[in-house]
Amino acid sequence: MENIYMDYGATTPVRPEVTAAMQPYLTTCYGNPSAQYDLAVQAKNAVEQARSVIAASLGVKPGEIYFTSGGTESDNWALKASVDRKPEKGHIITSQVEHHAILRTCQYLEAKGCEVTYLPVNEEGCISVEQLEQAIQPNTILISIMYANNEIGSIQPIRKIGEIARNHGIPFHTDAVQAYMHVPIRVQEEGITMLSASAHKFGGPKGTGFLYLSEKLPLGSLLQGGGQERGRRAGTENVAGIVGMGEAVRCADRELRQEQERLCRLRDQMIRTFLRDIPYVRLNGAARDRLPGNVNMSFQFVEGPSLLVLLNEEGICASAGSACSSGDGTVSHVLQAIGLPEELARAAIRFSFGKETTEEDIVKVVEVVKKNVQRLRNLR
Ligand code: PLP
Repeated sequence: MENIYMDYGATTPVRPEVTAAMQPYLTTCYGNPSAQYDLAVQAKNAVEQARSVIAASLGVKPGEIYFTSGGTESDNWALKASVDRKPEKGHIITSQVEHHAILRTCQYLEAKGCEVTYLPVNEEGCISVEQLEQAIQPNTILISIMYANNEIGSIQPIRKIGEIARNHGIPFHTDAVQAYMHVPIRVQEEGITMLSASAHKFGGPKGTGFLYLSEKLPLGSLLQGGGQERGRRAGTENVAGIVGMGEAVRCADRELRQEQERLCRLRDQMIRTFLRDIPYVRLNGAARDRLPGNVNMSFQFVEGPSLLVLLNEEGICASAGSACSSGDGTVSHVLQAIGLPEELARAAIRFSFGKETTEEDIVKVVEVVKKNVQRLRNLR
């Protein structure tokens, strides 16, 4: 039985071009980029090449890209180093629907004396820019709002947030782990000062990511040690991972607009058919401003985890809410924040798809879901 992979929000298959590009750096070209001989210089050059490709994808300077171990590290760095920069009790504004990499870091900083405002969201999962502006205080040191939500796909009003941040002279960090390489991002125009991204969400390897850090913001480092990454991120570079991420960006960037359009079409087709063919279903998140490959639906009178088991038996890989929090029995904080009653939150499934997904996959998934939703409802 062939699997139909519907969990691109959790991770994506590594593209063949990426594995091919990484191969030499796992075998013959093993030099440490900090060394001086040719074998090392080759590795160093490959890292710098990847940096340039990534910088170009965002319209920034290569010197503003810092390689990290992924989204979690980049998020931790942006928040913790912002607080270190202003040791007097600072205030951070974020939202209630952030990934735990942001929320738990904020809780950690609160325990250290920081003040944090968690902005609520509307039923589509978006913050209000008026509420953001009202939340700003004289001691606000950072605004950190995610680009797009990992569970319900809602895209935040980034340009407006960036404008408010700029007008008040406050740095704006965005966790773009779900958005980067899925929607076009131009950091200058959008007023973004820092941006987190992770390679495994767009066809690259796991354990590799980056932080875009504007040259105008002199943040310190998260890790102490060697002088790598211009003294800002210690530790021998994950050369193969960085090369793989660079290649993933090169491929994804080339196809971005076309893929975005194709996936939006598949997404809307899936939503339309669910709403038409299955009674008592609800779309969670924004109808329009949402990630191209994200569909989050609640199937009323059905337990999400039970449906997932049946889908798995038919080779369909999907997830309940978000992969990072599912399995622990708690109701998703995101679905709670959009005001979904607990019964509907427990009935939610996230289908997330991407490059390898075809229209036939969508048709098949809808059919299998429909059959199994009926089956579970009949058992009640
Ligand atoms: N932020 C968001 C929005 C995510 O979806 C994820 C992962 O799912 C992360 C951060 C963490 O990224 P990583 O897995 O690279 O640590």
